[in-house]
Amino acid sequence: MIHFEEALNRFKEAQHKMKALGYSTSMLFWDASTGAPKSGAEVRSQAIGVLSGYQYQLMVNDQMEQDLNTLMANLEALNEIDRVIVKDTKKEYDKMTKIPMEEYQKYNMLISKSSMVWEDAKEKSDFEMFKPYLTEVIDYLLKFAEYRGYEGHPYNLYIGDFEEGMTVDQLNVFFDELRARIVPLLKKIADKNKQIDTAFLNRSYPVHLQDEVSRSLLEQMGFNLEKGLLKESVHPFTMGVDIDDVRLTTHYYENDLASALFSTAHEGGHAIYEQNFSKDLQGTMLANGASNGFHESQSRIYENNFCKSEAYLPNLLSRLQTVFPEQLGDVSAQAFYEAINRVEPSFIRIEADELTYSLHIMMRYEIELGLIDGSIKVEDLPTVWNQKVKDYLGITPPDDAKGVLQDVHWSEGLFGYFPTYALGSAYAAQIAHYMGKEIDVDHCLKAGDFKPLTTWLNEKVHQYGALKKPNVLSEMITGERLNSKYYCDYLEAKYSKIYNL
Ligand SMILES: [Zn+2]
Repeated sequence: MIHFEEALNRFKEAQHKMKALGYSTSMLFWDASTGAPKSGAEVRSQAIGVLSGYQYQLMVNDQMEQDLNTLMANLEALNEIDRVIVKDTKKEYDKMTKIPMEEYQKYNMLISKSSMVWEDAKEKSDFEMFKPYLTEVIDYLLKFAEYRGYEGHPYNLYIGDFEEGMTVDQLNVFFDELRARIVPLLKKIADKNKQIDTAFLNRSYPVHLQDEVSRSLLEQMGFNLEKGLLKESVHPFTMGVDIDDVRLTTHYYENDLASALFSTAHEGGHAIYEQNFSKDLQGTMLANGASNGFHESQSRIYENNFCKSEAYLPNLLSRLQTVFPEQLGDVSAQAFYEAINRVEPSFIRIEADELTYSLHIMMRYEIELGLIDGSIKVEDLPTVWNQKVKDYLGITPPDDAKGVLQDVHWSEGLFGYFPTYALGSAYAAQIAHYMGKEIDVDHCLKAGDFKPLTTWLNEKVHQYGALKKPNVLSEMITGERLNSKYYCDYLEAKYSKIYNL
């Protein structure tokens, strides 16, 4: 027993130190993204290198291995929080140590080279440049899968890194339903050829006023700005370093009102999640989302299900009209709603509307799966890509920069990440459906009163952080695991009405 208590104390001390190092690394990243001089990039990356070296040493050493084994053998003696932390750490430890150190370092060097080459290749729209690097990245992922071990499909390992418990079998069912219902829906919308005017969204909206609007939107949604920070960065993101220190960014364009506004709503959803983990989890690795998909569900529910809804947008418009009377004075609530939700197939995922977005993800999933199981060859990628864009979105990319080279993920070895974006939207729809059984959501949104909605999410989702795994949490909230039916129902209902189908 003495052994066990010593092991637990040592383990907690190491966790504590890792958290502090993680905090420092996060601050360097935050600083780099929100205004630090470019000239300091070299010294910053050196500092990050040193800190991550210490982080690795704290995590991977003989003492940690011994302590983890002792704790794993005594799981029943731990409280629930410590038990989950130990189990999660053990998993992470195995992941880090099953791959021979030397190969892992070589892989990291390859990744840093391949993301640089990708940037160049994208700029020149030249897939041939990137091809050998991507081939090598995939070879490594296949080799690492053998080292790490997996059940069923090797892709299970990579999706599991971001969405614990999710498998290829489940994803196939999910995307099959999406393909069967959303592709025909989009076709009907295209055939309808309804013209929706969005020009007023591109009038001149001074950035300082957009910033004011973003802040008041965050407050209305329930984000506590006194324990958080909003700044601007090139790509919007959220960084929760602690329950009491949650930061987010947006990006303002003078001639695009919707971009910053809905980025703020999206990141605000992530940020509200981060602010509302239970105090019991504060300072532990469980002060985190249940999974990537769950984190994304909280951003999407605020961005799409709430802020882009027919119930809420008139409320938002009237607030905007007081700030921008000249730009929006002549816009009706219906015109505003339709403009914000216009469907338009486009080449670039991050610019896609709510409906076509899911198809961008679906084709990436199909391609990743094919690359991992060998049914798609890297050299055929541009052709395969363009064919899928044509099949699903009805358009053909003019070049590889607007096609297969547009996303950074694969150059960084991030396979299994894309599906979590679609899972997030689907979880959001499922959660919103069950919320609707207990709360009159439209009534709250019409009044701009997010409080009952945010409080409900605090209680059902946020408080648990990463203590509950996605499948368990989904069952707790909705009585079932992820079910794509709710997402497809939601999209069909929303867009059939907008497009009079
Ligand atoms: Zn997000």
